Formats: sequence, C-alpha cells, structure tokens
Amino acid sequence: MCTNEQRSGAVTATPTITRIPLVRAQRSHRWSRRRLLIDTGLGTAGVAILAACGSGDGSASTGSTPATDAPADTIAATDEPGATDEPGATDEPGATDAPAGDETDAAMAADASGSELQLQHVALGFVSAYVLVRGNEAAIVDTGTSGSGDAINDALGALGLAPADVRHIILTHDHGDHVGGLGELEGATTNATVYAGAGDIDSIRTSLDLTEVADGDEVFGMGVVATPGHTPGSISVFDTDTGLVVAGDAINGDNAGGLTGANPDFTPDMGAAEESVAKLAALMPTTAAFGHGGPPVTDGVAEKLAALT
Ligand SMILES: [Zn+2]
Ligand SMILES: [Zn+2]
Repeated sequence: MCTNEQRSGAVTATPTITRIPLVRAQRSHRWSRRRLLIDTGLGTAGVAILAACGSGDGSASTGSTPATDAPADTIAATDEPGATDEPGATDEPGATDAPAGDETDAAMAADASGSELQLQHVALGFVSAYVLVRGNEAAIVDTGTSGSGDAINDALGALGLAPADVRHIILTHDHGDHVGGLGELEGATTNATVYAGAGDIDSIRTSLDLTEVADGDEVFGMGVVATPGHTPGSISVFDTDTGLVVAGDAINGDNAGGLTGANPDFTPDMGAAEESVAKLAALMPTTAAFGHGGPPVTDGVAEKLAALT
C-alpha cells in the first residue's frame, strides 16, 4: 500500500523567520545538556507534488515537481500560530505553514560556553525542514521534497554557515516530503553523516551512505527517540537541556498552536503512533517542531501531548 503523503498545490512564497523563546529545562538525563536558541524559520515556496508511491514500497521519493525557491531573507515572524497559506494548497488538514513577518534582528544568544543551539525553521509550504546550529557546525533535520535543497542551503547561509559546515543530516522517516531534498544537498553532504531509523533506512533511495540510529543514540548532542507508527523507522530527536523535540510526522501542528498525533490518513500503525506520542509526552518537551501544521509550538507542549494520550 502506498504510505507516502501525496499532496500538491502551489504555496505562497513568503520567506519567514520565526523566533521562539525557549525555557531552559533542568532535568537529569544521559544526553548532553546544551543551550538552545530557536531563532529563525526561513520560508520558501513550493509546488509540492509527491510521487513517491510508484514502487509501492512506501519508500522515499526522488522525483517530483521541484519547489519554487525563495530567497533567503531575514524576516521575523510573528508568533501568531493561526496564520496559514492560501487554502486548498494541501489535502491534509493543518498542513499549511504560517508565513508572517516583520523585520528581524536575527540575533543569536550566545552562552558562555559557546555551545548555544539554534534552530532554523525552514518553512517549505506544507512541510518543514529544520537547520540546527551549534557553534560552527550545523545539522539538518529532514530535507523537504525534491526541490527543497536551495531553500535549505539558503537557511544555512542566513545563519552565516556554508553547506560544508553541516555535519549531520537526520531523516526522521522515509517519506518523500522529508527525504526528497537530500540528493540536492551536495555541499551539505560532503562532511555530513546521514542518519535514519532502522525500520526506514532500507527504503530511502539515495546513493549516500546512511547510518542507522536507534532509540537512545546521540546525534549532535541530541537524543534519538524511536517514535514508530507513522512509519516503522520514524525517529525524533530531543534536546534535554532546552526541551526541544523535533518529531517529524510523529506529531503534527494544527496551525493554531495546538498539537495532534500522527495523521491517521498516512499512518499505518496508529497504535504504535499513539504510544510514540505518549513517549514524547513523557520527555516533558517544552518546544515541539514537526513536519506539518505550522511553526514550532512552545506553549504547553507537554500538556498538549499528554492530552493526546
Ligand atoms: Zn510522513
Ligand atoms: Zn510528512
């Protein structure tokens, strides 16, 4: 059966940068403790048409209509969660992101150790990718659809980094709207290790070497959390210091600051998906970043996730 999300539609090309205040969490955890500053979200445009079901194996898409690129910009988004792109751009409720903007200063809050972590939200229309930066190194979480490479590179540039500064690329799962841009990140993959969960790694079509990660592993100072259900190998990453979780499609936003679980229309094992939501809720995250349904949510994240379980 086809397990990929197939969505299409032109999405307004509005670059966005979202600054989201974080609450430093104090927990004891085996994962390293870092300071996170979620800073920006770079919007881009997109005609996002996935054609990932051709092989019938639910694997990653490599061919689709390229997204329309939008220039990198430094526009501070409002934190108004309810704004959406033009309606009808997707076939999934809550799948539009929220461009908004004022001018930004795009300042970084450095801490004494210089280990501040920034998260750049790359709004690709109906799906998001994320660039995390710590010092002079960057990690990418998900790569959007085919055609998203330039926008992700622009996001790096907006942070003053080059693609070669990317050391880690984390694929939350094998769907084409999350791995489709991987092949376009040639500069970023030069020095990067590309990670995926065991259950999905074999269905990601790429000439790159992939590194399997499992629950409890650490990548870029963040803990890997196995969150199966949406796909067998879905993974999330969690920063224990700040409470940030980047969850792929294990959770979704509703474009109004709310959170939902995995989308049942695209999730073959909802039982496992619900257990994964409970698992994430138990981490008591304070910021949730996800693939669909708006920019990261920072208000009552743990409570919203717990309410879903
Ligand atoms: Zn998905
Ligand atoms: Zn998705």
